[in-house]
Amino acid sequence: MAFTLIDLPYADLGEVISAETLSFHHGKHHKTYIDKMNAAIEGTAHDSAALEAVVAAARGSDQGLFNNAAQTWNHGFYWLSMSNDGGAPSADLAAKIDAAFGSMDELKAQLKARGAGHFASGWVWLAEKDGALSIEETHDGDTLADSGFNPLLVIDVWEHAYYIDHRNARPAYLDAVVEGKLNWAFASENLERGTTWVYPS
Ligand code: MN
Repeated sequence: MAFTLIDLPYADLGEVISAETLSFHHGKHHKTYIDKMNAAIEGTAHDSAALEAVVAAARGSDQGLFNNAAQTWNHGFYWLSMSNDGGAPSADLAAKIDAAFGSMDELKAQLKARGAGHFASGWVWLAEKDGALSIEETHDGDTLADSGFNPLLVIDVWEHAYYIDHRNARPAYLDAVVEGKLNWAFASENLERGTTWVYPS
């Protein structure tokens, strides 16, 4: 079963992430990860597996497949982690944010600081484990898809995520995404479900 490119739920995210960025990041980068993964799993036992199982099986044993499978998952999750009208956290999520960070403003400040401080390429996550929230970082293509954490939101901090719109200014990209484009409704759904989001198949 070949995996497919998840549809974008928006044409652009205003001036924060332009249609041009998305044409490359979604239409080329994400698509290339999927195409390479599909080519690697065709005719193998992975061909009928869920993406999360492919990621877990490849971790530590097949770095090439792992990178493409994890990047497929991460980008699908990233597109849904943003919206033009991010809504508000559910009451449960808001309470957990206050418990872990003190306030939404402090969570936002920490997300921006961790993203700006992350060395080279990677991902910054808001995640839940055993009922508590934390900010996590993964490097390069690594993922929380098979980690034991329940990811709630993710931000891509690879240069290809922001270079067209913000040039080298990763902090400007992070500020704009965190302040205006995070999808709190999606984060609330992920918390409510209590199990890791599944890439559509
Ligand atoms: Mn990316």
